[in-house]
Amino acid sequence: MEDCLFCKIVAGDIPSKKVYEDELCYAFYDIDPQAPTHFLVIPKQHIQSVVAIDSSNSAIVAHCFEVIAKIAVDMKMDSFRVVSNIGEQAGQSVFHLHFHVLSGRDMTWPPG
Ligand code: 5GP
Ligand code: ZN
Repeated sequence: MEDCLFCKIVAGDIPSKKVYEDELCYAFYDIDPQAPTHFLVIPKQHIQSVVAIDSSNSAIVAHCFEVIAKIAVDMKMDSFRVVSNIGEQAGQSVFHLHFHVLSGRDMTWPPG
C-alpha cells in the first residue's frame, strides 16, 4: 500500500534489520526497542490492524504466530510478550498489522 511505512520496509525501500522472512511474513528489529529483545512480526500483505482480520487473511495471521513460535525457539526465548496495539488510544502508530515481540526484562501486568 502506498504511503505505508511497513509496506515500504517489506519492499526494501526503507532499510531494516531482518530477523526472519518467508513468502508471507517479515520480522525485523524495532527501531526504538522497549526491551533487550524487541522485534516486530508483520504480514507482507497490508492489513490495517487486528480489526481488519477476516476469513480472507486469517491464515496469514496464523502463519505470523507460527513464525513467532519458531523464532522464539531459535532465539531460546522462554519468556516473552506478544503485543498488538489497535487504534491510537492503545498506542498504534503504524497502521499495518504488526505483533511486537518483547523479551529479556521483567514486565508489569497490567500494562501501562
Ligand atoms: P505501534 O506504535 O504502531 O504499536 O508500533 C510501531 C512500532 O514501529 C514502534 O515500536 C516503532 O518504534 C516502530 N518503528 C517505527 N518506524 C520504524 C522504522 O522505520 N523501522 C523500524 N525498524 N521500526 C520502526
Ligand atoms: Zn502496509
